[in-house]
Amino acid sequence: MNAKLETTAASHASPLTLPVTRQTFDEVLVPTYAPAAMVPVRASGLDLWDQSGKHYLDFTSGIAVASLGHCHPALVEALTRQANTLWHLGNGYTNEPVLRLATALTEATFANRAFFCNSGAEANEAALKLARKYAHAKAGEKKSRIVSCFHSFHGRTLFTVSVGGQSKYTEGFEPLPPAIDHIAYNDIEAARAAIGDDVCAVVVEPVQGEGGVVPADAAFLKELRALCDQTGALLIFDEVQCGMGRTGELFAYMGYGVTPDILTAAKALGNGYPIGAMLTTHELAATLSVGSHGTTYGGNPLAATVALTVLDTINQPAFLARVKEASKTLVATLEKLIADYPQVFSLVRGSGLLLGLVVADAFKGRSKDIQRAAEAQGLMVLIAGTEVLRLAPALIVSDAQIAEADRLLRVAVDGLLKAA
Ligand SMILES: *Cc1c(COP(=O)(O)O)cnc(C)c1O
Repeated sequence: MNAKLETTAASHASPLTLPVTRQTFDEVLVPTYAPAAMVPVRASGLDLWDQSGKHYLDFTSGIAVASLGHCHPALVEALTRQANTLWHLGNGYTNEPVLRLATALTEATFANRAFFCNSGAEANEAALKLARKYAHAKAGEKKSRIVSCFHSFHGRTLFTVSVGGQSKYTEGFEPLPPAIDHIAYNDIEAARAAIGDDVCAVVVEPVQGEGGVVPADAAFLKELRALCDQTGALLIFDEVQCGMGRTGELFAYMGYGVTPDILTAAKALGNGYPIGAMLTTHELAATLSVGSHGTTYGGNPLAATVALTVLDTINQPAFLARVKEASKTLVATLEKLIADYPQVFSLVRGSGLLLGLVVADAFKGRSKDIQRAAEAQGLMVLIAGTEVLRLAPALIVSDAQIAEADRLLRVAVDGLLKAA
């Protein structure tokens, strides 16, 4: 036995009750993150409590994941039921929950085939591999170029991070996969110049999330569709962050009236239970024949059961109408906040309940400071880069919770202004 394990075993009856703090993170985790000082221990809806019992109003949803709020009763019930029934089989067998989920997703969207995996990166990896293989079979190796946008985010595998448009995430990981080009988001001329016959796929987020909460122009997405049709490239919409009701539509493409060839979803699809999906047509799906792609957990009964329940809850006209209503209330609230604090915030942008507050010049580079000040007041918010405070409350957010978030943010900002 190694010496460290012996010490742990000797001083604690069980690792299950080992006392842990934020400090423990720095001692035992690979430092890929710099988490907040507080450690959340319990949550319900948009309410969350840390180790000391302090309450927070959660306007992050775990980065647009827990869209039905924390510990939603229907999801707890579905997961518990499935946990007592069947966990895992492997891909040598199918299962009822995944068949129901695929049926529901294909009935709800343009797609008629689904592939399941465990994350957004994997869903995009599958989409990109499909596009490469499809073009390879149809036009040969020369049709392999992938076009995506600067400031986009598509995941952290080497392929998806290379397709993502943020060089800070690829630096030091070279050599990167070749034949990937980036254009400015919403730049139609750049798209025309970049998308030629050697392009196999164009990948775009209908609303850029990590890149600063920037919605696509409808004209840009329409032009990408037209260019893909002209050149035989596949249009991939990465709806990992903006899909599953976040914009007030089940998927953002529905609001734009532009249909992709492949759509990727993850994050809110499982409300916190890991699952990703790639949706496409049966013609394109045939590219990924038996044995050409796969993953051990993809379409696992636990994940599929949760996602099916999420989809069933979100994809209701009244639910989606309320998301749009809540969005209007939150936007109006933030516009008033900007009017009252022009020295802190300059504008609000985004779609549905994925909104970015752009910081004003006097607070340039300080989104993190505002985030920390809000947390101290008991409000959890996200950032999207150094210039944008990102709000992504659960889609079940009430008007009273929007008013409370506004109040807490004002107290936080007052504190920052006083300290300046
Ligand atoms: C979060 C995100 C991903 C990556 O998803 P993971 O589950 O972290 O792999 C991909 N695309 C977009 C748009 C995202 O927001």
